[in-house]
Amino acid sequence: LLVEHFPDIVDVGFTSRMEEELDEIASGERDWVPVLQEFYGPFHQTVERAAQIMPRVRIADEPTDEVCEKCGRPMVIKLGRYGRFLACSGFPECRNTRPLLEKIGVRCPACGIGEVVERRSRKGRTFYGCSRYPECDFVSWERPVAERCPQCGGYMVMSGRRQQSVLRCPACGHQVNLAETAAPDSIAAIVAEEEAAGRA
Ligand SMILES: [Zn+2]
Ligand SMILES: [Zn+2]
Ligand SMILES: [Zn+2]
Repeated sequence: LLVEHFPDIVDVGFTSRMEEELDEIASGERDWVPVLQEFYGPFHQTVERAAQIMPRVRIADEPTDEVCEKCGRPMVIKLGRYGRFLACSGFPECRNTRPLLEKIGVRCPACGIGEVVERRSRKGRTFYGCSRYPECDFVSWERPVAERCPQCGGYMVMSGRRQQSVLRCPACGHQVNLAETAAPDSIAAIVAEEEAAGRA
């Protein structure tokens, strides 16, 4: 039903495309007016149309490959008042819930076995930990990356403005400035290449 009424929203690429465009606006590469028109124009129409014809529906639980440690049934992602969380699909017989851990695609630098997951502190601040917690107690406020420190071989984290312009090694303090390593010429070349491929 959602796919039918919100084709743009359900499209998995949509959100990331929108984020890319917002980043381009923020960095001055794109004018915001046409982008916002592009986004809100069809969106507004779709919402109005859907509001008229769509019955009130419960948002479907999203399946996962996580297994409930209490009853062995699969866990599903539910949307609650405080955001997304994992709940047992055996509800109401099994009321097990767990916080939803978003994997960021980086192996845990401390144990090398678990994966780095994004978590939220009680005050709502984002931090990064190991998926094997409490066996592994790796924790970082800054987002770890797969790149290793060229100086000491330790793990590196995103640092600097908006946590994306500088890679920093927490162990030895070595920094890699990402903005400086990419020359303006090469960025222009990448943009031209993407435009040629129709992906920009
Ligand atoms: Zn269960
Ligand atoms: Zn770990
Ligand atoms: Zn280092």
